[in-house]
Amino acid sequence: MRVERVLIVRLHGALVGQVGHPRNPRPPYACKYLEALLLRDGCVRVGFVDGLVHPRAQAGLLAQVARLGPDVVVIQASSLDLDLLRATLAALRGLDQPPLTILMGQILAAPGLVDPATMVGLDLAVPGEAEERVYQILGELDRGRSLQALRAELEGTPPFLVQSPSQLPPLLFTRASLHDYRMHYPLRMLGRARWGHLLTGRGCPGACLFCSPVTRESYGTHLRLREPQELQAEVRGLVRLGATVLSLDDDDFTASRDHVLAFCEGLGRMADPPRWICHARIDDMDPELIERMAQAGCVLLRFGVEAASPAVLRTLRKTGRDDWAELAQEVFARCHGAGMATTALVLLGNPDESLEQAEQSVALAHALGPDMVQFHYFTPYPGSAAYERYRDQLPVEVVPQLYHYSAPPVNLSRMGDGELAELYRRAYRGFLLRPGFLLAHARRYLPFYWHNPDLLLDLLPRRS
Ligand code: SF4
Repeated sequence: MRVERVLIVRLHGALVGQVGHPRNPRPPYACKYLEALLLRDGCVRVGFVDGLVHPRAQAGLLAQVARLGPDVVVIQASSLDLDLLRATLAALRGLDQPPLTILMGQILAAPGLVDPATMVGLDLAVPGEAEERVYQILGELDRGRSLQALRAELEGTPPFLVQSPSQLPPLLFTRASLHDYRMHYPLRMLGRARWGHLLTGRGCPGACLFCSPVTRESYGTHLRLREPQELQAEVRGLVRLGATVLSLDDDDFTASRDHVLAFCEGLGRMADPPRWICHARIDDMDPELIERMAQAGCVLLRFGVEAASPAVLRTLRKTGRDDWAELAQEVFARCHGAGMATTALVLLGNPDESLEQAEQSVALAHALGPDMVQFHYFTPYPGSAAYERYRDQLPVEVVPQLYHYSAPPVNLSRMGDGELAELYRRAYRGFLLRPGFLLAHARRYLPFYWHNPDLLLDLLPRRS
């Protein structure tokens, strides 16, 4: 077959956005890198639909297909999107000239959820960091390789990994597409926040029980970091497009101290460096690193604190350290002292967790004095070690309902469902409605909201 036109789609399922939580959309990296690879060659016409940020375009997907007439539609989906995926594939297969379909994304991490042999309308499934392999497959199809041969090769294959992320072309953004991926974090900065995104590396050496491709951007424990110079070129490109703040979407940006220092050094050479935010681990931090990051323009660190009780932390495989809570207090205080904001991410409803242990986590989150907290329900997403451990309690039909912002369909803690839901509400209310928090937040962030009123409007509570 000839591959001359390709449509790339990120599907967005219905559950996301129904929970009244502000959305912080990150670009669909596998889709964006595939787009960049195809456009670099210039031989293929490429269409792009991101259903997360353009729900109308997703609703009009078939019209888009009719307009572009793609030979191949590449779809990225997660387990939250299962029903929509089925409907989309069936609709595409019902067309007069159905395109070949290739699926990638975390949905493939759930055994039994998607079977390319039986799912109507699905031709190929490529697991893992699929962009490079899908790009090669499109070339192979164009050169005449058969679908059967590719299916046989891909059956049961382990997730693909991008081994040399610096070899990938830079992502293509426009001013408008940067706006699509604007985050909703208030920042300690003046002026307009125009967000740029980048991945400075892949992989995380951690082994957290709950960690899954649904909530992270890459696969694998092996760190694959981009070259500092090539990274700087992308940073400069984003700044030229108008980005004033960068979201480093690495799963654990601070996993390599040398990498962080090289990134900070690169920013230090820029005349007008952007502000930036990242995910970090408490036990990656030290006083010098904190100072260097603050000097290089880091304005927000998002830490997975997860829990206070050493027993729960061990169950989560987060850390074996008994002094985690003390370490968290020290690191948060140092970050605040250096002028950086923090977010504490905490998990509730963990396996075998008692109400008392969960309350300790809530108390720790409050005591850390972060600029913001995020409480998540423990969620054994497909692709996590937790999914494998608790799979016999997770019938396939509940998997699409697993979502860390909504009450779990299967509660693995020692709390009752009502008790857990009430604790979750109390944890947020107790933090957000404290006069001390409201006053400090207003003092720190009113200037930011003044310059970014649209973000403030987006943050106002919404109900499903
Ligand atoms: S939760 Fe964070 S630290 Fe733990 S394995 Fe996943 S990415 Fe790494």
